[in-house]
Amino acid sequence: MMPFNKDKIQIGISSCLLGEKVRYDGGHKNSKYCSRDLSELFKFVPVCPEMAIGLGTPRKTIRLVRDENQIRVLTSDESFDVTEPLVNFSNEKVKQLSALGGYIFCAKSPTCGMERVLEYKIGTNNATKSGVGIFAKALMERYPLLPVEEEGRLHDPNLKENFFTRVYAYHDWMSMKQTGLTRHELIRFHSRYKYLIMAHSTEWYRKLGPILADLSDLESRANEYFDGFMTALKCSATKRSHTNTLQHIQGYFKNELNKEQKAELTESILNFNQGLTPLLVPITLINHYLREHPKEYIQDQVYLNPHPQELKLRYGF
Ligand code: SF4
Repeated sequence: MMPFNKDKIQIGISSCLLGEKVRYDGGHKNSKYCSRDLSELFKFVPVCPEMAIGLGTPRKTIRLVRDENQIRVLTSDESFDVTEPLVNFSNEKVKQLSALGGYIFCAKSPTCGMERVLEYKIGTNNATKSGVGIFAKALMERYPLLPVEEEGRLHDPNLKENFFTRVYAYHDWMSMKQTGLTRHELIRFHSRYKYLIMAHSTEWYRKLGPILADLSDLESRANEYFDGFMTALKCSATKRSHTNTLQHIQGYFKNELNKEQKAELTESILNFNQGLTPLLVPITLINHYLREHPKEYIQDQVYLNPHPQELKLRYGF
């Protein structure tokens, strides 16, 4: 099973989500889930770019404005342009955030929104939801594989599980790289993640193994692998793909379990497949059988334990 590091993973977050009174109106956007629940497990690194460039509170609201081929950030009355300080701050700040294991953004903000931010046509109130916040864009461009999510989307159990699965996998990879990348460690990493990858994307499950077939240029193969790996985990695992993965794991017990135990495991997987029980039920049963019949390869699978139980992520699936 995957040992979770006692050092808390650092997660960047829009300051207003932690209750800091940094919004344009002097208010906050406190997310209890982040400030109360997640802060037990992660070390938050709050950033408010608008305060950091000296806009202060209260302040005029700003918005993304398309001016021919460029995006500018103007006050809503278009009397004041903050594009340059905001872009400069963002580009400099993101350089200091290489140790992050993920980022939680405040949605819709022209600074922190990661998608669907209103983008106005200059001189008008006509807008499309096609923008990306200036700071969010700079961060995502510098760390394209970093797990990022909007706070509001973390209320969806599937999106939430997907985000934290990526956070722990990303951290695991970074920790491995820190201790020095070797061929052996890279192959071991892939081996431990096989069933998690399968649950997220059978297409990437097929593609990732061959990337490791020739490791003569270790660094570039590792980069290629990690790119595909994080892309795979971004795909949503579904009931069907989990069922398929569980059935593959079930195959490892065919010689050890008696008839009743096999039937119990089959029933547990089918109940999950039909939405009668959460994913945690067949996983718990498999872990129970693994204690009775240890199998190193399966016990090592991150799929069986991808994030700490305290996150309570597999109850709602
Ligand atoms: S959304 Fe970003 S810029 Fe706006 S108040 Fe929150 S942290 Fe500050």
